[in-house]
Amino acid sequence: MSNHSLLNETHDPQLTSWVESANVPGNEFPIQNLPFAIFRVKGSSENFRGGVAIGDQVLDLAAAQASGIFEGIAQQALAACSKDQLNDFMAMGKEAWSSLRAALSKALAVGSSAQAQLTNCLVVQADVEYALPCRIGDYTDFYTSIHHATSVGKKFRPDNPLLPNYKWVPIGYHGRASSIEVSGGSFKRPKGQTKAPTATEPSFGPCKRLDYELEVGIFVGQGNDLGSAITIDKAEDHVFGLCLFNDWSARDIQGWEYQPLGPFLSKSFASTISPWIVTTEALAPFKSSWTRDENDPQPMPYLESEQNRALGSFDIELQVYLETEKMRANSEAAVKLSQSNFNDSYWTVAQMVTHHTVNGCNLRAGDMFGSGTQSGPKPEEAGSLLELSNAGSEPVSLPNGETRTFLEDGDNVIMKGYCQKAGAVSIGFGLVEAKVLPAE
Ligand code: MN
Repeated sequence: MSNHSLLNETHDPQLTSWVESANVPGNEFPIQNLPFAIFRVKGSSENFRGGVAIGDQVLDLAAAQASGIFEGIAQQALAACSKDQLNDFMAMGKEAWSSLRAALSKALAVGSSAQAQLTNCLVVQADVEYALPCRIGDYTDFYTSIHHATSVGKKFRPDNPLLPNYKWVPIGYHGRASSIEVSGGSFKRPKGQTKAPTATEPSFGPCKRLDYELEVGIFVGQGNDLGSAITIDKAEDHVFGLCLFNDWSARDIQGWEYQPLGPFLSKSFASTISPWIVTTEALAPFKSSWTRDENDPQPMPYLESEQNRALGSFDIELQVYLETEKMRANSEAAVKLSQSNFNDSYWTVAQMVTHHTVNGCNLRAGDMFGSGTQSGPKPEEAGSLLELSNAGSEPVSLPNGETRTFLEDGDNVIMKGYCQKAGAVSIGFGLVEAKVLPAE
């Protein structure tokens, strides 16, 4: 089984767009990408509606729908995308997503007869603001990087870093959906209970060990009925697409509260997603094989399939940058802290979907999973400051002389994601960023 089974004319590397900026090598939104967001003109009172990124432009899907040049399922899909959330479109399922992608690809390609009409449906990306792409009904955070699980486990439990269930169960917990916001905002440093290891009693105050988590966000498209499981061979048909996800974490609050039921207020104060959802279909050229070390337990049958072995992983390079208050004041560029790849995940997206529903739990369109912090095998591939600073004991040095163990007020954290492969046109995820404000 190869990627070719997933590819169609929309992935053709020769395809170029009449939107010239989409053809510039290295741009994140070539015609092969076509990710979805909810947007409007910045500072306006326009209705939010669906948009697709093409080069440095957004194709306004409500305007495209009104143009009347599309028909059939694609036109029905555009009608769903004209709303202020993508849930209805996501619920339409794979055939509708694919039909719209094919129609948009044709219409935006060089030589399209739709060029004249669609030119009027373009908005410059620099002039827009985004909303959440959908109503996120439920958010589940997984823990799929064994490198992260092991190094974090060492800090919380030096004698017992990786718990015995890790290699059998895709570990997750139910997160808080209401505090997920779209990129570009800010949030106040959380306050809460913490207890220093040497203290006899906990104290209350602003978090002192504020961290980011470099994650991939996974959006459920068509859901499943309560009581029915999604089998692994059908799992990816239920995944609309992926985004970048920063799952902010208060490590000192987490350390005190997390036993026995897991993290609670240490995670629920803020999470931030990138505005663009890159569809599973756009990611097809970047699917890759998934393997399980032969010395580890092999997945139980419900988490095992030939397709998952052949193409279950996503080759996405992930990067974290930090821009401090001082850097902004001196007009210095953000500094790269680390990078990792979603390929290194211990569990695949399909396994997450299947495991989540194996008990009959129903997923709904717009539900989101966090992949868990994506750390690679090398120390410099750590997806959190907890790991990079060795739990605060080894400050990270920045080029301007500043250091960080954990985040300080005014810090802006930026995450990026790219897919590159020989024979395919590279695509990007845009970015997710948000700034830490002082505690109230
Ligand atoms: Mn997380």
